[in-house]
Amino acid sequence: MSGVVAGIDLGGTGSRFVVYGREGVIAFTAVATAVLGAGDLEQRLSRLVDTLRDLVPAGRALLGAGIGASGPVDRATGVIHNHETLPMFSGFPLAAALQERLAAAVTIDNDAVTAAIAEQRLGAGQGARHMLMVTLGTGVGAAFLVDGAPFRGPHGEHPEAGHIPIITSVGRCYCGGEGCWEQVASRSALQAMLRPHLPPDTEDRDILTRAAAVADQSIQDVFTRYGQLVGRGLSVLHSLYRPEVTILGGSAADYLPMFIDGMRHDLTRHPEFAIETAIRRAALGDNAGAIGAAVIARDALVDD
Ligand SMILES: [Zn+2]
Repeated sequence: MSGVVAGIDLGGTGSRFVVYGREGVIAFTAVATAVLGAGDLEQRLSRLVDTLRDLVPAGRALLGAGIGASGPVDRATGVIHNHETLPMFSGFPLAAALQERLAAAVTIDNDAVTAAIAEQRLGAGQGARHMLMVTLGTGVGAAFLVDGAPFRGPHGEHPEAGHIPIITSVGRCYCGGEGCWEQVASRSALQAMLRPHLPPDTEDRDILTRAAAVADQSIQDVFTRYGQLVGRGLSVLHSLYRPEVTILGGSAADYLPMFIDGMRHDLTRHPEFAIETAIRRAALGDNAGAIGAAVIARDALVDD
């Protein structure tokens, strides 16, 4: 029996766990991040470990685990610095704490990076040499791969493209910048834009499905406007990186058909400035970040 690796995607709202073996994804589960993060630190860590262990099939050894987390992540220290949307797992050496409890190597990276790696290896970005991944979730994440390797800063930092300024009317963002893309292009932003068009008792998690089911003109107009706001940030990233493939992930990407026209409106340039990029929805869906986390865990084992 061969060993397995695990991937955890810690998102602002939902978190996902996968166990990955030679045959591909063996098991996965989703847990609300608020549930994972309740209680004291020891309880939170135990919940992560127990959720993972429950997924590992009997007789298969857990060789390593990867974590993809939203927001700034220090890969060297294994610390997440996302006090805004992931406070319960930020500010302490999470990777080391899990490594001790799992008795297996733990690797950590940003969740847009892990999603990008998963899509490039196994999903909608296979064969793409220059690939942009944008996740539209609780926030907006982005990663850019060249020949499969993520673009990084001098200390391994990943881009925080959710915080490119694109529209000043939304005021100051929690990052300290003004008019950040994330404030208007995240799934949370889309939910806020749609809320006035739905019955007041609609739960947050039901807003997108309900809106898509109604899809009257006023709701379609919201999706079109949202597409324009997504497109405005994408046009910046396209101008800088010139990706041959752009993949949209995160739960708002499930509604791409409803906002793609608005998005294309803001991406259109004169022919001599046009950027040829194939825009695709993530093929691995909401599991991309967790699968990519398992992939980096496996890569780390091979590199050792
Ligand atoms: Zn910001």
